[in-house]
This record gives sequence, structure tokens and C-alpha cells, in this order.
Amino acid sequence: MRQDLGLKLLDSSPKKPFDVERIRADFPVLSQNMNGKPLAYLDNAASAQVPKVVIERIHEYLTKEHANIHRGVYYLSQKATTAYESAREKIKRFINAREAEECIFVRGCTEAINLVAYSFGRRFIENGDEIVLSQMEHHANIIPWQTIAEEKGARLRIIPINERGELVLEEFENLLNERTKIVAITHVSNSLGTVNPIKQIISIAHKFGIPVCVDGAQAIPHFRVDVQEIDADFYAFSGHKMFGPTGIGVLYGKRKWLEEMPPYQTGGGMIRRVTFEKTTFAPIPEKFEAGTPAIMGAIGLGAAVDYLNSIDFEAASEYEKELLEYATEQISNIEGVRIIGTAKEKASVLSFVIENIHPHDIGTILDQQGIAIRAGHHCAQPVMDFFKIPATARASFAFYNTKQEVDRLIEAIKKTVEIFS
Ligand code: PMP
Repeated sequence: MRQDLGLKLLDSSPKKPFDVERIRADFPVLSQNMNGKPLAYLDNAASAQVPKVVIERIHEYLTKEHANIHRGVYYLSQKATTAYESAREKIKRFINAREAEECIFVRGCTEAINLVAYSFGRRFIENGDEIVLSQMEHHANIIPWQTIAEEKGARLRIIPINERGELVLEEFENLLNERTKIVAITHVSNSLGTVNPIKQIISIAHKFGIPVCVDGAQAIPHFRVDVQEIDADFYAFSGHKMFGPTGIGVLYGKRKWLEEMPPYQTGGGMIRRVTFEKTTFAPIPEKFEAGTPAIMGAIGLGAAVDYLNSIDFEAASEYEKELLEYATEQISNIEGVRIIGTAKEKASVLSFVIENIHPHDIGTILDQQGIAIRAGHHCAQPVMDFFKIPATARASFAFYNTKQEVDRLIEAIKKTVEIFS
């Protein structure tokens, strides 16, 4: 039976082939040379590139619409407020949230998870409680929980992974009990590419009445996510990984949780009434958006959502999957290369090590060929510990990458092996 991955099933009716060259023309960065070679940008898991329409929207905002929001009675401020709030509405529709108010603008996925850890943690986590994470989490989905656990005298319980880099789901249910206050888990691993069966995980946790906070940073750019369908309590993601600007991200949270949680930061824009004796807070989302938010970032992110809606995102997603399969097949033929992360369901990420060559050397040699990949622990040191390696080289794909770029990657890896042998 097909695992339930929280992906919408793809329509099987015949479609026009995905036109990658047309898509590439939308991304100005991609047409440059690097080190005298055409840029092959394969570090999309770190940050994706930005299409022209997003750049133009930000330019338009700055040249015609900029003012602080929610405060001004004058036309320009109202225009900026409308643009900011309409970006929230776009996000709501994109992830199928029930209400726009359940979408909080934050600085990025890291801030979104910190918000949940501290605010939910402050309200609901007590001495002796447990927080369930997995072995494959990004540090952004470990340290906030570790910190609140230390503060509260709670402890972390970890879902193990297997040699393929998949969660050992049989162990998951055993970790849940009446002390478990939250499960915090990634939808897609940034270091392994594993797509977790998130709907199933959430449904198991909910059987115990436990809410789930999903780190969606690596899922949102690669396939459609429906937060109601998977029934996530919280879903965190970053704008810059989904073809929007840096400095903006989203925390989706169910109203019932967000209303019960205390503010994460306090200050202007998030109050109902302030006196020196007592302050009462604005309703969501303002309660969680203290100070002047990233207005330009939110509007840019709204334009990125418009862009994803304007292309055939399902076809893009399928194309990208084929690209990853092709790259995996090709790299498997190179002697001495070991893929880290061989889960049955993967998205975007091809992590690998080469015998006797440090990943940083691989990255440097590839850079000379104009190929941008990442080398390091990918902020996932527990994953590196599991595989007993210090680091990996990681190519990560977006729908604007091509088979030719994969071929260049493979050639460059072969050359690297040759140089070091
Ligand atoms: N979680 C995952 C799985 C990630 O890949 C990243 C970014 N590498 C983050 C969280 C943090 O995202 P940001 O740095 O944009 O806050």
C-alpha cells in the first residue's frame, strides 16, 4: 500500500511535458557564469533562487507602496496593510489553512519553531513531561525543544532512524504516553531527503491526544502541502526556500492552540490595551507579530506563492522527482561514492560521501566547474553521528534544474575521484 506522505495524489491524465527552459527564464540568477562556467545551482535545500516576478513585486512595493502597516490612517499605509494582509490570505490558500489568522508571519522556519517551543512550552510543558523528536531533525527543530526541556525539567525522547535514513515508526508509538506534551518532527529531512509519512505520524500522535509541530522547511518547496488534510497542529516554513525572500517565514497553527498560547515576543502592534499595571493582547495573528514585521518580505512571499500557482506545481514536483531519481542512478555507478539517505520516499536531496575525500574538497572542486553544492553537517549533527561521518556533500534540486546539470555534476564528481586517486 502506498504510504501516506501528505502529498496530494498526482493526476494521471496525459499532460504537456514540463518545460524547464521556460521556467529557467523566470530566474535571472540562473543565466550567469560562475568561475567561467554556466552556474549549476544545486544548493536549493539551503536557499532557493527568486523568480523575476517576486523581484519586481518587491521593487513595486518599495517604489510605490511602502509605509508602516496597521497604524496609519493615510492612504499609503492602508495600501501597504492591504498588500501585507493579502499575502497572508495567499499563504492561507496555498497551504489550505482554515483561516488566514492561523498563519503567523515570522522571520523563518527557525523562528517559527522557537515560537512554538517557548510559547507552547511555557504554557503546557511541566516538570517530568516529555517531548518527542526524531534522529533526523535539523538543529532548528532540536535546540529550541532542548532549551525549553532544560528550563522546565522535561526530557526529549527520540524516534530512531534506520540505515536508509527512514524513521523506525514501530518505535514511535512506544515513545508516546501521558507525559508526552508534543511531537516535533520534520516533514522532509534536509540532510537525507527522506519524506516522512507525516499524516500517519500525526494520526498516531492524535490517538494519544498529543499535538504535532511539523518542520515543513524542506517540504513546502517540493510538493503541495495541505495542513488540514494532514491535520498538523503547527506547520513551520521559510520563504527563502520556496522562491521568496529571506527574513520571512510562516508558522501555521490551529486557532485553538494559538489562542491558548502566550505571546512569544511583546511590544508594539500586538496589544489591545496597555497600562503599567496590566496589558491585554490583540487576537491572533497580531498577538504573535510584535513590532514592525517584515512587510516587504511578506509581500515578496505572497508573490512567490502567486508564482507557484501560475506554474503547474504538480508537474514541477513530478519533474523534480524524476531528476532526483536520475541523479541517484547516475551517482550510484561511481565507484567509491556512498549515498547517505536511501529512503524509499525522498525529495530533492542527494547527500553523499566519497571514500578518502573530505566533502569540503568535493565542494571546492565542483565550484571550480560552476557547480554549487553544499558540504558540511547540514545542521543535523545527530544524523552525522548516526552514520558515523563528520559531513556529507549535498546536491539539492529544484524544478528549474536540468538533466544536463545533473550530468555535469556526475562528471565533476568523477573528476574529483580521479584527482584524489
Ligand atoms: N528545518 C529544516 C529541515 C531546514 O532545512 C532548515 C534550513 N536549512 C531549517 C529548519 C531552518 O530554516 P531557516 O534557516 O530558514 O530558519
